[in-house]
Amino acid sequence: MNPFIQLGIRHDIVNAISELGFENPTPIQEQSIPVLLTGSNDFVGLAQTGTGKTAAFGLPLLELLDFEENHPQALVLCPTRELCLQITNDIKNYSKKMDNVHVVAVYGGASIMDQLRQIKRGVQIVVATPGRMLDIINRKAIDFSKVKFVVLDEADEMLNMGFQEDIDNILSTTPDEKKTWLFSATMPTEVRRIAKKYMNEPFELTMGTKNTGNANIEHEYYIVRARDKYAAFKRIVDFNPDIFGIVFCRTKIETQDIAEALIKDGYNADSLHGDLSQQQRDKVMKRYRERSLQLLIATDVAARGIDVNDVTHVINYSLPDEVENYTHRSGRTARAGKTGVSISIINAKELGKIRQIERTLGKRFVKAEIPTGFDVCEKQLFSIVHKVHNVQVNEQQIEQYIPRIMDEFKDMSKEEFIKRFASIEFNRFLDYYKNAPDLNASVEESGRRDRDDRSDRGERGGAPSGPSAYTRLFINLGSVDEFNRGDLLGYICNTSKISGRSVGKIDVKGVYSFFEVPNEDVEKVTIGFKDAEYKGRPVRIEVSGEGTSDRRESSGGGYRGGERREGGVGYRGGERREGGGSRGGDRNRNANSGGGGFRDFSGKPREDRPERKRRF
Ligand code: AMP
Repeated sequence: MNPFIQLGIRHDIVNAISELGFENPTPIQEQSIPVLLTGSNDFVGLAQTGTGKTAAFGLPLLELLDFEENHPQALVLCPTRELCLQITNDIKNYSKKMDNVHVVAVYGGASIMDQLRQIKRGVQIVVATPGRMLDIINRKAIDFSKVKFVVLDEADEMLNMGFQEDIDNILSTTPDEKKTWLFSATMPTEVRRIAKKYMNEPFELTMGTKNTGNANIEHEYYIVRARDKYAAFKRIVDFNPDIFGIVFCRTKIETQDIAEALIKDGYNADSLHGDLSQQQRDKVMKRYRERSLQLLIATDVAARGIDVNDVTHVINYSLPDEVENYTHRSGRTARAGKTGVSISIINAKELGKIRQIERTLGKRFVKAEIPTGFDVCEKQLFSIVHKVHNVQVNEQQIEQYIPRIMDEFKDMSKEEFIKRFASIEFNRFLDYYKNAPDLNASVEESGRRDRDDRSDRGERGGAPSGPSAYTRLFINLGSVDEFNRGDLLGYICNTSKISGRSVGKIDVKGVYSFFEVPNEDVEKVTIGFKDAEYKGRPVRIEVSGEGTSDRRESSGGGYRGGERREGGVGYRGGERREGGGSRGGDRNRNANSGGGGFRDFSGKPREDRPERKRRF
């Protein structure tokens, strides 16, 4: 008997999901469907995205609702438009052999009139993002008084996105006796709190241990010097010719910069971030889904709800600020029973963050070595060989050229031909990677070099490094005020709201110090420090007598001492391009969040103050 029938799902639904390729229930479906089918429990399911949780709640909903009635009976709330559409589509697919099932997707960024019209025609299942749902409720355009089930999907994400109040307001319009089913990838205290608030002795199901990532994901980290980060990243990509990955950055600017640098270097990449219009985002996602893009560079927020299967790698170009986000990021790979790799490219100072994620996930991460140039060449060579072996020949189209091709090669042996054919691509990699430096940094070395990088502004880490003009500023605080360089950096960033990454050389003296900022940030710093006091003493900032410095001269920008910065060797539209990775991108750095691990000068140490999210 079909295992879904055994779980209590009716034939017409089982037939529909069989057509989708669902032969056996996933673990979460196996365990939650029997519980949810009773319709009498509140429910908390701790499950990663990609585990099949949509069907875990979707199939029971289809069993439990009365589709002869045309009023809303189930409300599914989820954090993003993408997820909203996905869930709606999935439920429609599960129910395609049933009669009179009406599911509506309610989300922002699309015509509300269309959605209102669909609601008016009669729906039983409403799948919604909180903001638009509330809008529709406020227009009194929907009646939730007969709702029997509310599903809170990706509850942690909804809270992360600040939807708590909206959810409260929406749920207050539903009957008290409804059942609430909550799904979340992680279980931070906020989610616990809403589970407590909305539910009555819920049945709890934890797939794996709490906050544990998907077991099919391998976690790796690479330690590199900050200035080698972009080169190391590209080498990892080159070492994985069939990569279909999502690369996470912390800010929109970084996302954009990395994507631009990759495109310039000939990779098949694009960015997804909040500054894009919905139309632009849809376009990027369409290309990614269709695999016209190989690398999607995204921020955490933009990547929420991305439900693309077969993502082979998640790359943390920058580690996230919160541990929970790591789980969300890595959950974009290894979906639907597949395996995947989650890679973090870090400097030695970030090792502590890795250890913290390991503790949270209860999983050991593998320290991996950046492949050598030789490794990359070998890997690429065999990738070409496999491609030749597996290529689909279009007999009809190529037939007309065969005689000429044969003629061209008539004097060549098979061995010679194969050697030459494979060499076409191989030579490029050989050329590119000859003398490629070792990019692995030892823990001590990476820490030291990073400090050095800051002290001489030779930082070349990341694509967006490049020359920028800096101004040296004087500040009347120094070591007698118990500042070291890191403390001062934190203080400057907190007070003037500029990114730590944009601050250049810092010289801490006795009663004063000097620090450098990009010329365009001078005004921001001056304004930020206006009326600033430190321990009751006015803080004074002045442009130092030494004036501005063009870092091009003092640091050598992206290239230094004749050392080659690695460019990538990638494909774009079949055309391979090579290029250096350096771009003049420093202008963009100041929007970085900065200040992450800095001492907090607002009074209490940061750790003592209540934090909404768990930070490293
Ligand atoms: P979800 O976690 O609901 O987003 O599901 C992740 C992916 O797994 C989707 O592409 C589903 O279509 C697929 N899926 C869900 N349940 C099953 C199943 N029982 N068998 C095969 N694929 C499934």
